[in-house]
Amino acid sequence: MRILVVEDDTALAAQIAQALRTAGFVADVEHDGEAAAFAGCEEAYDAAVLDLGLPHKDGLSVLRDWREAGHHWPVLVLTARNRWSDKVAGFNAGADDYLTKPFMMEEVLLRLRAMLRRSSGSGANLLRAGALEYDVGTGHFMWQGQTLQLTAQEHKILAYFMHHPGQLITRTTLSEHVYARDLDPDSNTIDVLIGRIRRKLGTAGVLVTERGQGFRLNMSEPR
Ligand code: CA
Repeated sequence: MRILVVEDDTALAAQIAQALRTAGFVADVEHDGEAAAFAGCEEAYDAAVLDLGLPHKDGLSVLRDWREAGHHWPVLVLTARNRWSDKVAGFNAGADDYLTKPFMMEEVLLRLRAMLRRSSGSGANLLRAGALEYDVGTGHFMWQGQTLQLTAQEHKILAYFMHHPGQLITRTTLSEHVYARDLDPDSNTIDVLIGRIRRKLGTAGVLVTERGQGFRLNMSEPR
């Protein structure tokens, strides 16, 4: 899952991005409002962490730009103030949740995971597809009751599928959501990674190939 981090405090932005990457997310960072508004409209994100006080364009205007452009992924707003009027304005502009500075990095992760679960249409901490289970809170995968060991890239791919159960996912969509902006893998890479995940699962029946289109997570994979 790919997250846009917008924060003009460069040290804090780096800290948030690092915490997200360590937790298995892909993170892009912007430090000013205009660049953030542009990136959010041009790139494929699953969620954003958005500071309100930004140079060139304030966070609420950035959020309105994204929403007006039809982007409805969840947004966690960061604010230095804990004023009710800010929260009302934020929710009216389309924010999904709030975090008042200073905060623990763990709290950013908790809120983000909860927002992503809700936007996947599930409030549950444990996402299931047949005998495959994904604990959103810990980031652990279980397959047929055993811990599934995955590399960072394999993990990102499988997590993306678990958040989009039963949906057809094209190679392009996968690339956009499991690689940061400056990385453009060749189209073969996705197939290689899918192949590795299938070998670890011991079956191709979980991640099904839709000929000429992409892949789909099989929700009723036999155990
Ligand atoms: Ca700021």
